[in-house]
Amino acid sequence: MSSIPKIVILGAGYGGVLTSLRLQKELNYNEADVTLVNKHDYHYITTHLHMPAAGTDNPENARVNISKLIDEFKIDFVKSTVVQIRPQDRKVILEDGTLSYDYLVIGLGGEPETFGIPGLAENALSIRSINSVRLIREHIEYQFARFKREPHRTDYLTFVVGGAGFTGIEFVGELATRVPELCKQFDVDPALVKIYNIEAAPTALPGFDPELVQYAMETLTKKGVTFKIGTAIKECTPDGVVVGVGEEIKAQTVVWTGGIRGNRLIEEAGFETMRGRVKVDEFMRAPGHENIFILGDNALVFNPEGRPYPPTAQIAMQAGMNCAHNLVASIRNQPLKPFVFHNKGVVASLGKGEGIGVAFGRKYKGRTGAWLKKIVDLRYLFIIGGIPLVLRKGKFL
Ligand code: FAD
Ligand code: NAD
Repeated sequence: MSSIPKIVILGAGYGGVLTSLRLQKELNYNEADVTLVNKHDYHYITTHLHMPAAGTDNPENARVNISKLIDEFKIDFVKSTVVQIRPQDRKVILEDGTLSYDYLVIGLGGEPETFGIPGLAENALSIRSINSVRLIREHIEYQFARFKREPHRTDYLTFVVGGAGFTGIEFVGELATRVPELCKQFDVDPALVKIYNIEAAPTALPGFDPELVQYAMETLTKKGVTFKIGTAIKECTPDGVVVGVGEEIKAQTVVWTGGIRGNRLIEEAGFETMRGRVKVDEFMRAPGHENIFILGDNALVFNPEGRPYPPTAQIAMQAGMNCAHNLVASIRNQPLKPFVFHNKGVVASLGKGEGIGVAFGRKYKGRTGAWLKKIVDLRYLFIIGGIPLVLRKGKFL
């Protein structure tokens, strides 16, 4: 190891940004050389993406320039795409160069998990990034415009959302909020628009509080969403989806929200993974690699009952802070702190003015649920950028 250890952080998502922010606070001058790599020069607020995807908010509100978050005197930011991780050589290959490291932090986020369902990768859209949600928004508007030229094509106005986990539920809530506005804008009879949320499990939001799930389904049904529960998507074609035992739903828009997996670069690097996620040790390190920390959607962390925690922004942020602490401790030859997840609850929006949540030992629904979601979003902006970012990006209505 050189005299000043080199720390390379891959991905400026929830995990990578929190690691960077905490490191720039805790490290002394010249104690380490820190580089953050991200494929865009902005961080995106994934928990917000269902809104610009449906067109109920501007994508600009879901992104923050990385230069506004980090102190570039303390952290070198490299805008580039990682193409290979080579743990054996302690190197990371970028599209336009190579970085060597003493310590590596991998927070490259997830990818849509298609479970090998034919046609999904080719024909479905997914809510993953600023670019992907811009495409969804434009695509939805285009379908309304197309319908005006070919009014017999009701499949232009049929929107299928595959998977009723939190991403699917939040997205159909926003879409149901947007549709009346689009109908007005394009002079379309709202009765012609269909929004299907299709879920393979016997319930929407599997594993979540049943009373709140029922509330969510009733609220969204009233807003115009049709649920097909206990119905798996079997195939996706350019004309729609095949579900259950061969029923075809004709739709020119299919948004896949059926789950995520870890980034493929991780398994390609030779780490042992389950759906692209590495079962990390108690300090969030890859087994057999004391200098490689893995965070967020790339890590598999188990609860005390032995079940994996769902990959969320909340766990990614906490892991990022723990990782920064342990990087500093490693450099100073101090003992590391095990990662313990403190679950602060779950909140989800159901479109304008509606939400559900479980937090502080209580359940929330309706307007209170929506407010709680807003508070969680504002809190995140405050953590990463203080009051100025809250004022710039936080929506108060
Ligand atoms: P990410 O935040 O995904 O960041 C990964 C970063 O790596 C990105 O900046 C990406 O551009 C970059 N990157 C990827 N590949 C490369 C590469 N090859 N080279 C360089 N850079 C690369 N969780 C909650 O707790 N609460 C919520 O309300 C919530 N809402 C959600 C809503 C939606 C629509 C979605 C999709 C997810 C939601 N989640 C929520 C889950 C949460 O967003 C993720 O668990 C979280 O983003 C994971 O953080 P991360 O740091 O692991 O990765
Ligand atoms: P998920 O894995 O939580 O949900 C995917 C859903 O798709 C599941 O209910 C699954 O049964 C269903 N599904 C899978 N295959 C299917 C098929 N062939 N046909 C129909 N349905 C199918 O994925 P997600 O909703 O994208 O969430 C990813 C992670 O992000 C989770 O950990 C979630 O908790 C988190 N998240 C949290 C929030 C929030 O807290 N507000 C919002 C969005 C996402």
